[in-house]
Amino acid sequence: MHVATGALAGVLTRSRRAAIVLGPVLHAAADRTPHEDIASRRFEVGCGIALVGALVLARGPFHPAVLGALAASAPDVEHLVRLPRPGGGKLFPTHRFLGWHPPGGVPAWAQVLAAGTLVGALLRAGGEGREGSTLSARAALDAGA
Ligand SMILES: [Zn+2]
Repeated sequence: MHVATGALAGVLTRSRRAAIVLGPVLHAAADRTPHEDIASRRFEVGCGIALVGALVLARGPFHPAVLGALAASAPDVEHLVRLPRPGGGKLFPTHRFLGWHPPGGVPAWAQVLAAGTLVGALLRAGGEGREGSTLSARAALDAGA
């Protein structure tokens, strides 16, 4: 869901800077919305990588939609990699403070469906604004970007 909302921000603002600034704000807003967590982190990460990969192939690696998707997903990196935890808590506010990540509400399946639908719609919205060749997108994917 973070990938989809970030990509949408990039498409709507058509600005790399706005997408990068809005990404973490959207992440916080999404975390604050009561939602079920997806039970499998592996599935969640796999979905995220697949959606970003599809956006890169369709729009090129530096399109605002791609940067927005990455910026909106970046805060969750600390769930995967152990980053410094000053005071014992995680860094991002919605991960750090108890009750800022409320459970219940939007079920996991609805989030996956909405994210897939949204990114699918963004992909179909055409190659307008596409940057970089398929070749450079492939190179970025191979580099693990
Ligand atoms: Zn989060």
